[in-house]
Amino acid sequence: MNVSFISLGCVKNLVDSEYILGLLRQDNTINVIDDISLSDVIFINTCGFINDAKKEAIDTIFSVINEKKDDAYIIVIGCLAKRYKKELSEQIPEIDLIVGVDEYDTIGEAINQLLKTSLPKTYNPLKRSLSNPLPVAYLKIGEGCSNKCAYCAIPLIRGDYYSYTKEQIINDAKRLISLGKKEIIVIAQDPTRYGKDIYGDNYLLEDLLKDLLMLDESVNYRVLYLYPDRISDQLIELFKNHKNLLPYFDIPIQHSSNKILNLMKRSGSKEKYIERIAKIRKEVDNAILRTTLIVGFPNESQEDFDDLKEFVKQIKFDHLGVFAYSDEEDTLAFNMENKIASKIAKKREKEIMKIQNEISFTLNKKRINEIHDVLIEDFDGNNYYGRSYLYAPDAEDGQFIIHSDKSLIIGEYVKVKIIDVTAYDVIGEVIDILP
Ligand code: SF4
Repeated sequence: MNVSFISLGCVKNLVDSEYILGLLRQDNTINVIDDISLSDVIFINTCGFINDAKKEAIDTIFSVINEKKDDAYIIVIGCLAKRYKKELSEQIPEIDLIVGVDEYDTIGEAINQLLKTSLPKTYNPLKRSLSNPLPVAYLKIGEGCSNKCAYCAIPLIRGDYYSYTKEQIINDAKRLISLGKKEIIVIAQDPTRYGKDIYGDNYLLEDLLKDLLMLDESVNYRVLYLYPDRISDQLIELFKNHKNLLPYFDIPIQHSSNKILNLMKRSGSKEKYIERIAKIRKEVDNAILRTTLIVGFPNESQEDFDDLKEFVKQIKFDHLGVFAYSDEEDTLAFNMENKIASKIAKKREKEIMKIQNEISFTLNKKRINEIHDVLIEDFDGNNYYGRSYLYAPDAEDGQFIIHSDKSLIIGEYVKVKIIDVTAYDVIGEVIDILP
């Protein structure tokens, strides 16, 4: 049976895809292929938390319907499947099976019923099938979110936050290391909540990171999605003192106006965020700061927006993503008054990115002549592309562009000197091939 698998959405969803691919591969009658037109079964792991993502998922489902063999099965899983199961089954009868993220504990049985396979009841996280051949992998440490930000549908889809056990996470990491992974990226909706629900204050994110860092000193760790109000001094201390914990701080701030932060139900304040950022920059050498912002949230006045622009100019983030507010049903914000016209929201999005473009270019120019250990990740026949600790492996950040007469190996680390820059990328030349 030929099976193909499409994974949409965030990296947390990607790890779910890897879990389910691992489950499928436990049945040796299943052969995973890329070609949808030759597949007997097509899995689509969907995202469903904002309108654009929902549209992408629906478009993907219809393109698969058009491309597939007549007798091929379509199985839709993931966040859209959880949030709109009834609507999907009523409005797209071509879908043969819908399994929401809340039904993964019996996904094997559901698939067996349709495909007459003999899969285990559900997946074993330690048998996940890794999607990235490069020495990079994601390590999920928890699920769901209890922050309940007013604009966000994730708690409606994924439920309240819960931590995975440290045993499961450590074993997952050991397996990744045994498979040659050199950069492990720690993720959850909110990693700063790690451990509290199952270990109280005895074992928190920094304790987990300490145990992970002890596994193999040739492996680097990166942590994404740090909730700004819960970055402890102990966590900053660990980043300061441990070279394998990459000094990369991904801190979604969302807004700077305290009025808007309160309406968004975001804990903390602009003053607290500035204090944490200042502490990170004082304590941790070469700290990289990334954030995401939302503009056009209901009640966002011109004054609030001016406040945000000033904040962006003051902080000078290394990487910044900004999104226009997406009106999501069943969220608190959906019923708020004073919605901002999407034309204005889009205009504000552009304004912030224009400011950030100049900031990023100025910061990049200061990097000329710096030397970095770069993981070579791609080659387009002319240039190689790669990342150092400066960049997380997702598009927003930027990358190294390297022209080399010597052929380089994808998946290898090389020493690169930055010789030129653009607003978001750096241009480098190889000065040494690392062992
Ligand atoms: S922290 Fe807020 S925005 Fe992020 S997943 Fe949780 S509820 Fe959504």
